[in-house]
Amino acid sequence: MTNRKYPTYTTKIKIAVDHGGKCAFCGIESNRLYPNLQGEQLIGVRVGKFAHIHSENENGPRFDPNISEEDLASRLNFLYLCEDHHSLIDDNEDMYKAEDLKSKRKEFCQLVSHNFKKNSIGNKCCIITLEDNFFGKINRTSIIESLGINTTPISNLNISLDLPENDSDIDWLSQCHNLKKKWKNFQEYLFKINGLNLNEIIPDEYHIYSITKIPLAIYFGAILQETNKVLLHQWRRKKDE
Ligand SMILES: [Zn+2]
Ligand SMILES: [Zn+2]
Repeated sequence: MTNRKYPTYTTKIKIAVDHGGKCAFCGIESNRLYPNLQGEQLIGVRVGKFAHIHSENENGPRFDPNISEEDLASRLNFLYLCEDHHSLIDDNEDMYKAEDLKSKRKEFCQLVSHNFKKNSIGNKCCIITLEDNFFGKINRTSIIESLGINTTPISNLNISLDLPENDSDIDWLSQCHNLKKKWKNFQEYLFKINGLNLNEIIPDEYHIYSITKIPLAIYFGAILQETNKVLLHQWRRKKDE
């Protein structure tokens, strides 16, 4: 183990945000959810690594004695990468020169902020409600009222889950499979009915309004987020308190 001072906690957050939470090389999302071995619980895993462009250690990759302490600590000295790509650049420093990595960072982060701006205006959205047998229906009128003026709902998906009363009786893994299947069917349906004018009907973003158990809402948000822009709103389940 080498001792590293940087990045500091605040800089880490800035780096991850600069990269939109994705690996600058392959674009893989850095936060993923996996069920534990018993399938009872979902565990969040952060696969994102903060990769130094110039190492702070003399023997580390791309070490340069002329780099100031300030530049070493700067967010610009770090790429956000998945585990594979972190090893790739650190184990092959001759092929991954500092200057090339700096332009790679700049290019990727510009793309992230460009896509973010593009997605912020005039959105066509899909409203997804996640309910279960205990907490009744979500009021769709109030959802539509809460959307910004630039956001037009163009499609809807309602998922109502059948859950046992106690958490300990929930088969989380099969509920997750169930959610994934419903989502797949919905996507196929969207393509089928609107095959002729895809641009008009494929949503720019998905708004998930959930009143069901939090792990299920998070899991669902995570599947969609792999390919789409997602906003997740979770209602409080009063009966749980
Ligand atoms: Zn990667
Ligand atoms: Zn490193």
